[in-house]
Amino acid sequence: MRKYLSHGVGVNSTALMLLLIDDNVEFESVFSDTGCENPETYEYLDYLQKRGYEITRIIPQVKEKRGIYDNLYDYFWSWQGIPIIHRRQCCVKFKKQPVDKYVKQPCEVMLGYDFNERKRRRTKNRKQITFIFPLIERKITREQCVDIIREHGLLVPIRSGCYLCPYQSKKTWKRLRDNHPDLFMKAMALEENAITRKSGKQLYQGGNLSSICPSGVQGFNGHSAYQEVVISRRPLTFSKPRRRRRQENKLTSYLEAEK
Ligand code: SF4
Repeated sequence: MRKYLSHGVGVNSTALMLLLIDDNVEFESVFSDTGCENPETYEYLDYLQKRGYEITRIIPQVKEKRGIYDNLYDYFWSWQGIPIIHRRQCCVKFKKQPVDKYVKQPCEVMLGYDFNERKRRRTKNRKQITFIFPLIERKITREQCVDIIREHGLLVPIRSGCYLCPYQSKKTWKRLRDNHPDLFMKAMALEENAITRKSGKQLYQGGNLSSICPSGVQGFNGHSAYQEVVISRRPLTFSKPRRRRRQENKLTSYLEAEK
């Protein structure tokens, strides 16, 4: 039976890939690219590929009434939404379903959940797809995954995931702000876009992203990204005049600050 590894280009799936190679298992590594992965994850993917590890990159095609989306950002922007914690519908649409669609059935799909994540184990198999959890079966923890990667002489990747993922701590948001201000701006614009529609929606669970952007939008270095997102994307189509006015004022003050 064909075997696939659903590769997230993070610690666990990289360690699992190395173990499978050591065990001479025939399998294909498949990485579903949300288009919003952290830049370090894309760099690590290149790093692995340059070292001869074959990883197939899939670009999802998520069909919705509004259109077909090949990245998470456009998908959420189109309906003024954001990824919501505990729902994970983005993971299903942009990670799980594209892999399920790609694989040739019948097959086994291996997932890199470690022993400490055993509660997240997917219990339902598809008709022709059996999900396997080799790290859980071997009782391998995340710390051991790090050791496995080091023992193979490779650099250890960062935690995989999207730069706009709501499952991030304040520390990782701050790291994004400092290392990739353009992406932080894009995430903030997405959050604002959603908040203006419905209150209570936040990417950062400790408040909202502007609270960790001390100098505010106008004082922030990543102007170009904010400009690209807010000015070119945001349609001024809110039906309620007060919201529309607030949005226009924000854009005006932003443009003035840019002069
Ligand atoms: S990493 Fe986060 S934002 Fe990205 S698909 Fe998964 S839950 Fe959604």
